[in-house]
Amino acid sequence: MSETSEHDGTAEVDDVDPAGLTDEEWRERLSEEEYRVLRESGTEAKFSGEYVDHHPEDGEYRCRACGTVLFEAETKFESGCGWPAFYAAEEDSVTTTIDTSHGMRRTEVRCANCDSHLGHVFDDGPEPTGKRFCINSVAMTFDED
Ligand SMILES: [Zn+2]
Repeated sequence: MSETSEHDGTAEVDDVDPAGLTDEEWRERLSEEEYRVLRESGTEAKFSGEYVDHHPEDGEYRCRACGTVLFEAETKFESGCGWPAFYAAEEDSVTTTIDTSHGMRRTEVRCANCDSHLGHVFDDGPEPTGKRFCINSVAMTFDED
């Protein structure tokens, strides 16, 4: 019997280099909304995301595009801003750049592994970091372990 035809429908994203994907391949891997946020720096509607009121005790949030661990559940806090908020990202998991689009000066947060857009980070978060990572739910997948 062949062992190569096992497919359970779960996207296997760790077996490819996401930085090497073409635009067409990204569109195939992601839903329309995921593509719009992750690859076109879109923003999901306020309070619409599945992780806004999601407060697990344990687990981690991974990049929906490539599976990289981005945030630990214990760093998530209730910011009231309408998007999932964290006070710290996993070390070296994200990159930040100044974003001056929409007439604002914000700091954009991207996945360090696949360069997908995740959200923005602000300096009005709680201790111990004072940071508020404001991240689109659709850019992440929660992993209980
Ligand atoms: Zn990624």
